[in-house]
Amino acid sequence: MSDKSAIIVNDTTVSCEGKGDTGGHPRVYIKLDHHTNVAECPYCGQAFKLDPDAKISAAH
Ligand SMILES: [Zn+2]
Repeated sequence: MSDKSAIIVNDTTVSCEGKGDTGGHPRVYIKLDHHTNVAECPYCGQAFKLDPDAKISAAH
């Protein structure tokens, strides 16, 4: 794997545009939830990790 560190997010949806050394890519939205608390961008491989302290409102 790459040596990129995961970005900690506090929302279940995160967007990625590939900022950095990848030169960018179309914006994609990545879903996170309690079952998939770590996800990688399919374009640039950036990892996103759901903050365990984040208040996630369940479907209500
Ligand atoms: Zn990306």
